[in-house]
Amino acid sequence: MSPTSQPLLADAPHSVPRDQHPISRKSISPGALRVLYRLHEAGHGAFLVGGAVRDLLIGLQPKDFDVATDATPEQVKALFRNCRLIGRRFRLAHVVFGREIVEVATFRSNADDGSGDRETHEGGRLLRDNVYGTIEEDAVRRDFTANALYYAIEDFSVRDYLGGYEDVRNRVLKLIGDPEQRYREDPVRMLRAVRLAAKLGFTIDPATAAPIPVLAPLLREAAPARLFEECLKLFLSGHGEASFLGLEAQGLLPILFPESAAAMASNRSGALRRVVLEGLRNTDARVAADEPVSPAFLFALLLWPAYCHALIGLQAGGANAAEAQRRAADRVTLHQLSTIALPRRFSLPMQEIWLLQTRFPLRQRKRVVRTLSHPRFRAAFDFLLLRDTASGSHGEDVAFWREAQHDPDHAIAAQPDTAEDGEEGATGRRRRRRRRPARAGTEG
Ligand code: ATP
Ligand code: MG
Repeated sequence: MSPTSQPLLADAPHSVPRDQHPISRKSISPGALRVLYRLHEAGHGAFLVGGAVRDLLIGLQPKDFDVATDATPEQVKALFRNCRLIGRRFRLAHVVFGREIVEVATFRSNADDGSGDRETHEGGRLLRDNVYGTIEEDAVRRDFTANALYYAIEDFSVRDYLGGYEDVRNRVLKLIGDPEQRYREDPVRMLRAVRLAAKLGFTIDPATAAPIPVLAPLLREAAPARLFEECLKLFLSGHGEASFLGLEAQGLLPILFPESAAAMASNRSGALRRVVLEGLRNTDARVAADEPVSPAFLFALLLWPAYCHALIGLQAGGANAAEAQRRAADRVTLHQLSTIALPRRFSLPMQEIWLLQTRFPLRQRKRVVRTLSHPRFRAAFDFLLLRDTASGSHGEDVAFWREAQHDPDHAIAAQPDTAEDGEEGATGRRRRRRRRPARAGTEG
């Protein structure tokens, strides 16, 4: 069944009048309102669409406001001075109001697979499978019914051609059309299902969820750069823990993070998984408090189980500690890149966060000073805190480095067994150093 054969609601267009839905113009951004009114005054259809309508219906403040219209991009451009046309395949209009950008899209018909992989026709004319269309056709090509609602500025009603209004009220995500076909068109929709369910607190309709574990491997063919972007939305938008649990439940985790998923599965104590969950909870709390979060730290966390596992393997194979750490970090990064395009500006600091973990047990003055002045010290220390919260076995390191940040001399002097200059002579500590990486691996 093609998405276009999805039956529209029997007596379409179904319209929910203003007095029966909660969307007020006060909660729509000034820029989006201006775009809607200007299009309407010029005689065009003008609708708020997609995530913004869905979010407003459940009382969330939308991140951005998208507008759909029957005006062509050129007609839109003619109406706004502050407008630029973007995109080669589909021309979209961006109308700019200071820091706000309102995206205006002309109704399209048929199966845009959303993957950005289709070809542009030479003349820039849209191809058969992505021509301009009616509002009903535009609705049907979207992913979930909850994302296919239109708020009409002409009468403040919500237009619903596919039952999305009821689905939002029931807090359920339902793919439009035949789920298996929609996932085959664009496997990233599987991640969108999990992400939106986590973000909105919706359930995934059983028929929409059913094909996911079977079709999950199709995600391996998705563009790695797109998967990276999707990961940031999954894990750095304030609902990372829920996203992780959703990915796990739907069998998507082993596809996105094969080595980490395998390492967690074989880690009997569950410590590795606990570190990841603890870290994601922490990240969610930071997002809620408007504190910065970083992709490098996120990936250090998500790939930590893989790193620990690789490290243990290399050490068992006889590699010396420092070399094993480097090789484990490189190997895990390289393998992960075949699925998710993690840019180097994030993978390098991610590796530094890992490598610094093994420096924490080293308390000689020279090393302490060097560790403290490392640009990634703060992130690595935060990472150590997570590991300690998850395993309870790094309390001594945490106490030392907390103190050392304020008063390194005092912290070093307070070490019971640390001769200040004793690095070379301290064979006991050397041995301890070598044991540490294995400990990191087994205890998380
Ligand atoms: P949020 O912005 O909260 O992450 P959203 O639903 O707005 O969620 P966007 O990626 O901004 O997600 O997409 C805007 C709209 O475009 C969606 O609501 C949906 O109607 C449509 N859409 C996005 N991605 C796809 C896709 N892969 N397949 C079909 N329709 C899509
Ligand atoms: Mg959006």
